[in-house]
Parts: sequence; structure tokens; C-alpha cells
Amino acid sequence: MLSQNIPLKKYSSIKIGGPASYFCEVNSVSQLKQVIKQWREIDGDLNKIFVLGEGTNILFSDSGYDGLVIKNNINLLERKGTQVLAGGGMLMPTLINFCSQNALSGFEWAGGLPGTVGGGIRGNAGAFLGEIGDSILEVESLDLRTFKIKKRNRKECQFGYRQSVFKTEEGKKEVILYAKFKLKKGDREEIKTKTQEKVDYRIERHPLDLPNVGSAFKNVPTSSVSSSVKKEFEKSIKPDPFPVIPTAKLLIGAGLKGKSIGGAKFSEKHPNFIVNFNRAKAEDVLALISIAKKSVKEKYGVDLEEEIMFV
Ligand SMILES: Cc1cc2nc3c(=O)[nH]c(=O)nc-3n(C[C@H](O)[C@H](O)[C@H](O)COP(=O)(O)OP(=O)(O)OC[C@H]3O[C@@H](n4cnc5c(N)ncnc54)[C@H](O)[C@@H]3O)c2cc1C
Repeated sequence: MLSQNIPLKKYSSIKIGGPASYFCEVNSVSQLKQVIKQWREIDGDLNKIFVLGEGTNILFSDSGYDGLVIKNNINLLERKGTQVLAGGGMLMPTLINFCSQNALSGFEWAGGLPGTVGGGIRGNAGAFLGEIGDSILEVESLDLRTFKIKKRNRKECQFGYRQSVFKTEEGKKEVILYAKFKLKKGDREEIKTKTQEKVDYRIERHPLDLPNVGSAFKNVPTSSVSSSVKKEFEKSIKPDPFPVIPTAKLLIGAGLKGKSIGGAKFSEKHPNFIVNFNRAKAEDVLALISIAKKSVKEKYGVDLEEEIMFV
């Protein structure tokens, strides 16, 4: 069931990454458990297991991953009234479309959001004043340490800005298996239109024609910047999910729009997206990240925080 030396660039939306020493895809909880048992015989170190969704938020190292990468394809999708049960490997666009087809309102903000349900919950993905955590009723996960299934309600998931319990010590060894969402009855056409508006917005503003991993950095809370920086970017402040200065504006101000290293660059269309325009290496992307942090710190005194994850 486990394959060896599988190139990870195939599984990352920025198309970068060396081989995983071990790799497998799982479609069910029993397959997942079986794979973990197999891993215990080969190595046993749980710290060397990486759970992969759609790879839309990950920069894999050029040297690959020394361990086991498990691609989660648990794909259930069921509706009961205004509740929807989705597998952790279910693609967000499929879930969003399912809700819209069933006249269920709550995911309009997520039109065009890539990735899986599991990846989205872990990072509490959000946009346009909405976050995945807003509609969560319950999340079911498998604790790899104990092999126990855990169920958490929304409060117990500890959602915050791109944050959840699954990023903390408590939950970081858990695989999200299923999520139950609570939605509202709505008008199908209205939901479809609102969702499509977000898709169109993304197509117009984001460099979707080139491999990328979404925003490289989190936006910057206005509460963390000096009053002069706040004044300079006053017109760009967004209330999403609290008042923030879009990092793209700081990158433009620091002269980094279009700046390239090797085959990677800060997109001219949206500078907070680093795009792979010519067989980029992870080291090119990391060098750009490092330059951005240094330049923005020097010019604005702001510490940028990565949104993407380096593995
Ligand atoms: C074009 C583009 C636009 C984007 N727009 C947005 C946006 O508007 N808002 C936003 O928040 N993000 C955005 N992103 C980033 C990304 O899509 C989200 O973070 C997404 O939720 C990641 O899901 P994924 O399945 O790809 O996770 P992956 O990238 O595969 O993994 C991300 C993390 O989640 C963990 N993980 C994945 N599945 C599970 C699971 N089942 N159980 C436990 N842990 C798991 C992984 O181990 C990893 O740590 C964008 C990305 C792109 C490429």
C-alpha cells in the first residue's frame, strides 16, 4: 500500500518539492488505520507522518520529505436538512457547489476557495468576512497517538485567524476525518450568484494562471503597526476578519511587486502571491520570503508572518 520515492511537486499547487520517502492515498478511516499500523512496523515515528490535503497551502522542500506522506481522500458528502456531513478529504469547491445546489446558505464567501475540508478546518480558511469555523457544528478526528476518535464542537475547535486546535500541541497529531456543518435554507439562485461573484473576483485579481500557494503572508492587523504606517495605508484597510492592512500593499510599498529569484516571483497581479513561472525551486520561494520580511521590517517596522507552510 505504501509507495516509495514519490515526487511531491505533483501534489502541491505551486508544483515544487522533492520525493517523499513513503507515500500513500487513503479513502477511508480503516485504510488510514491500516497505513499507520504499517508505518509503525517500518519506522514508528509519528513525527515523520505528514497528512496532505490538496497541497494548496504547502511549500515542500527541494530535498523532499523524509517520512510518510498520507494523502487524505476521505470523500463523504451527505445532507440532513440544513446540516451537511463532509469527509476531511472532500474538495471545498465540491462542498460549496453541493450547498449551492441544495439551496443551503453559508458558504457563499468561499466561492473559489481551493483545498480540502480537512486543510480548511486546520487553518480556519477564510475570505470576504467568512471563515470555515463559522459554520462548523462538529469535527471528528483520529488521534494518531492513541488511535481514538475525537469529536469536538465549534468552541472546542478553538478557531481564530487561520488558527484552530489542530495547529496546537493538543490537536496536531490528529487527522480530520469528517466535519458536520450547520447551514441555513436560502434561495438557490441568490446563493449561486453570490458564490460566483467571489469566484469572478478571484479570477480577476489573483494570478491563477500560474502555479502558486495562495497568499504567502497573513495580512497585518492594524493594531500591530505604528500610527504613521496605519495612516499611510488608511485607504487600504480591510475589516477581514478584523482591521488589517493587506500585505500586498506593504510588498508594493517595499518595491517587491514582480521581484523574482530563480523561477519564482511576487506576482505583478497580486504581490502577496508568489508564483512559479519557470521551474522554481523551494529555495527560490524561501529567498523571496526572506527578502520580503527584511524589506518590510526595514521600511515599515512590520514583522510579516507566513501564511504558507514550509515542509
Ligand atoms: C489560489 C489560492 C487561493 C487561496 N485562497 C485562500 C483564501 O482565500 N483563504 C484562505 O484561508 N486560504 C486560501 N488559500 C490557501 C489554501 O487554499 C487553504 O489554506 C486551504 O484550506 C488548504 O487546504 P488543503 O487541503 O490544500 O491543505 P494542504 O495544503 O494540503 O495542507 C495544509 C495543512 O493542513 C493539514 N491538513 C490537511 N488535511 C488535513 C486533515 N484531514 N487533517 C489534519 N490536517 C490536515 C496539512 O497537514 C497541512 O499542515 C488559497 C490557496 C490558493 C492556491
